[in-house]
Formats: sequence, C-alpha cells, structure tokens
Amino acid sequence: MKKYLYRKELESFEPGIPEKSIKEVKKELNLQEIIRLNSNENTIGPSPKAVEAIKKELININFYPDGLSNEVRIKLSEIYNISAENIIVSNGADNIIVLIGQAFLNRDEEVIIGDPSFPVYEAITKLLGAKMVKVPLKEYKFDLDSIYGNITAKTKLVVICNPNNPTGTILTKEELEKFVNKVPKDIIIVLDEAYCDFVTNSKYPNGLEYVKKNKNVIVVRTFSKILGLAGVRIGCAIAPKSLVNYLYIVLEPFPVNRLAQVGVAAALNDVEYYKNVLGNNEKGKEYLYNELNKMNLFYVSTEANFIFIKTKIDSDDLYERLLRKGILVAPGSIWGYPKFIRVTIGKPNENKKFIGILGEILDE
Ligand SMILES: *Cc1c(COP(=O)(O)O)cnc(C)c1O
Repeated sequence: MKKYLYRKELESFEPGIPEKSIKEVKKELNLQEIIRLNSNENTIGPSPKAVEAIKKELININFYPDGLSNEVRIKLSEIYNISAENIIVSNGADNIIVLIGQAFLNRDEEVIIGDPSFPVYEAITKLLGAKMVKVPLKEYKFDLDSIYGNITAKTKLVVICNPNNPTGTILTKEELEKFVNKVPKDIIIVLDEAYCDFVTNSKYPNGLEYVKKNKNVIVVRTFSKILGLAGVRIGCAIAPKSLVNYLYIVLEPFPVNRLAQVGVAAALNDVEYYKNVLGNNEKGKEYLYNELNKMNLFYVSTEANFIFIKTKIDSDDLYERLLRKGILVAPGSIWGYPKFIRVTIGKPNENKKFIGILGEILDE
C-alpha cells in the first residue's frame, strides 16, 4: 500500500490555497475602502469598554492567560443563570466545534446537519473520518422531521443552527422541544446559537433550558457577532457536566488569549453598546427589506444580522461586480445557491451604498 505524508482523511479536501487578504484585494482593485458585509461581523465596531480593557491588558501579554477563562465563565454563569462548571470558553466558536468533534466523534459515525448551514461542522466531521449527512432545508428552515428520519444506529451528533446561517431562519420552541425530547439518548444535539441575541421572534427557544434539564444538548455561542470581538477569537459552549467534562479533556492548555478574555468581560457589562448594536440591526433590517421590496427582490426574513437575498443573476458574477465597487458579500455558490447572496446588515451608510450599487448592477 502506498504511504502518503498526509492523513487519509485529507483526500476529500481541496489543497489549501490561501485566500487573498482584504488589504491585497484593496490594492489590486485600487479601492479606497472595502465595506465588509460578507462575514456577519459587527459593523458598529467593538465596545469602547472592551477596547479600553484590552489596552490596559497589553502590558501583561508576557504572561500566559488563565487557561480556563475563569473571569469570563463566572460572568457568563451569572448572565446565563447556570453553574460555571457547565461552561467552557475557547478560541472562538469555530474552535468549540473542533473540540466537539475531537471529544465525541468516532470514525465512521454520522453527523446530521441541515443544508445549507454553517460549513465548519462538515470540515471537522470529514477530517475525523466521520460522515456528514446533509438534510435539505424546507422553505429555508431546518426540517426536523426529515432530520429525525435520517437518524441511524451510527448517528452521533445532530447539528442545529438556530438562527440558521446563511438563511437567518429559526425553529420555534415548540418545534425544537418536540425534537429534543424524542431524539435517542445516545445522540448529542449541538445547538449553534451564534446569532441568538439578534432574534426578535418571541417563539424563539433558549437552548440553555435544555442544558438545565440535563438533555444531551451542547449550546454553542460566540462573542464575535453580538459583542463585536471577532478579531480576538473567543466563544463558548454550555452543556451538562457529563458532556462538558469531555470537552475539557481536549481543550488546549491556554486556548484564549488575555486580550480576548478581558475584552469579553468588559463588553458583557456594556449594556449601552448591546442596545446600540441591536437597534442598528433592526433599523438596517427594515431599511433593507424596504429597498429590496422596491427592487422586487426575494429575500428570506431574517432573525439574525444578515439577509439571504435572491438576486436574479449569478451570485459569483454579482460578487465580483460588487467587490469591484468596494462591497464584499458572501456568494450563495458557497452553499449551492448560485442565485443568492448573503449580506451582513451594516451601518446606515453601508446599507445605502450596498443598495445603490446593487441597483446599478441589476439595471445594467
Ligand atoms: C460566526 C459563526 C460561528 C463562529 O464564531 P467564532 O466565535 O468567530 O469562531 C459559529 N457558528 C455560526 C453559525 C457562525 O455564524
């Protein structure tokens, strides 16, 4: 048998071609600025309190950080009303997803997820030699009946992204609760709630309730989106102790840097910032809905800080043309939706610029 240098599981991946940095793209296209509406970052900027705390902490970066992010966990335990022992903090929710794979997935086991949804789950599943089972969304929503129907003896994880990225749709409390209660006990439900703070629909469930009832549920959250800290990388999981303890086994010794820890601790106290972010999102959503309606474009009603828009023309083509005018969006081709784009809700001037340029392109 031929011996390869790389692990066998890497065969199903494309060789890694590094993406160009925004700085390089700017130079290449001769653009003054690029409006980033492609990654659902917080366009308002970080919390001033977080920035201040991070500046103060800079002098200590010669010391390792607290490996367990205790200050952040204690703060979160108060906010979430759950023991700090149920919480694990790591280097972004992306890393939490990797830890979940490392702790729970055996080779040849199956992971079920809706399609389209967040791609990081598939990457770690394939890397570990497990199998991804993708169940098409129904009317842009997770189809829990169909997901249930796809459960086999090999199923280990079911991933539910609520609100879903890229569609922005939610499952209601009634829908999710029924599902959580009937899934076999040897399966773990991963509830990715990266956008939970943006939800306005009162039927939205709080995944922490299932953790408090000791269900086999791991809730994944991030501080990248709502708290505007994507650049320092910090996220967390909340789960029953029987599950979280295994995540701790695979956690690196010092996964979260000092700046991220003090940044989150400070931003969690900044109620004004939080309100400002949500206010901007609601205003931006309303503006974009209005303009898209006027342009006769279909979009999926969103409960998050982005909108999945059907654009009449090819999404890769539109992506390129928007980029040449300084606007970065996510093309639907990433998820096999070549007529859609996913656009982050930006600040008023950013939304206006996006709509203006989109209109120009579609009129051409
Ligand atoms: C952005 C995002 C994440 C990752 O967040 P980080 O903490 O920045 O790694 C996880 N899940 C979903 C659905 C996301 O959209």
